[in-house]
Amino acid sequence: MKYLLILFCVTYSKAKYVDLTYALNKDVVMWPGRENTFHTEIEAELPDGTWVASKGFCISEHTSTHIDAPYHVYKNGGTLDKIPLDTLLDVPGVCIDIYDKVQGVRNGQARVTSNYVITKEDILEWEEKNGQIPPKALVLVRTGWGKRWPNVFDYLGIPKDHRTTTEATGDTETKNSSIVNNEMSKHLNFPGIDATAAVFLSVERQVNGVGIDAISIDAGNAKTFPAHKIFGRRGIYMLENVANLHLLPPRGFQLFAVPFKVDGGTGSPTRLIAKLP
Ligand SMILES: [Zn+2]
Repeated sequence: MKYLLILFCVTYSKAKYVDLTYALNKDVVMWPGRENTFHTEIEAELPDGTWVASKGFCISEHTSTHIDAPYHVYKNGGTLDKIPLDTLLDVPGVCIDIYDKVQGVRNGQARVTSNYVITKEDILEWEEKNGQIPPKALVLVRTGWGKRWPNVFDYLGIPKDHRTTTEATGDTETKNSSIVNNEMSKHLNFPGIDATAAVFLSVERQVNGVGIDAISIDAGNAKTFPAHKIFGRRGIYMLENVANLHLLPPRGFQLFAVPFKVDGGTGSPTRLIAKLP
């Protein structure tokens, strides 16, 4: 009995971590016109038998699962290195699931609303079921768009007749980041956050940050980036291309977001981890 109790305590106290991060590699989906390169500096056995391996990359700050600093969209906003650590680490997590609204699953039939935007109404509906969003939270929005990752055209929502490609150049590995050209940024379709939700979250719920499982917190057809501007002006950071949101409960978990420390940075690939009780 004693041993059973010990076993139970050990099992029970073990926190579960969920990695909400896509790996950094040549397959990541990039905003049209942006390009990443990855290369090997050395990967060899030296004459004395010593093994040495070192690789390098040249990437946009907005690559893979990443954070947008307020300065990315607001001239007077804080840069990456100025985001306070206590707003990034061990903050209360919330996951608002609008999968059914975006994917339009009704009577077993899917009718996707590509540019669906989560509204204040949607959030109030979530709060009715799950309670009010706690202050200083990091609010993640699950749209289900992540299941398209890393198919670049599907994830960016580019219609079939606009799927032209730019030829990959050089001897470095570029793949997804080089096949969508600037022209395609006119034909983006994916879900996002609308202005009513952005104001509600930042003013009435005083969130630390927001995140989404798409390439931008603004929908693909939102050409003036209203949600980015609302959050940026209020010093709230944004996380994009968040992975694995289907593994999270609506609330009751803590989040840890760890970006690089780049002086004057506008954003950075970010390791985002949820700690479940
Ligand atoms: Zn970004």
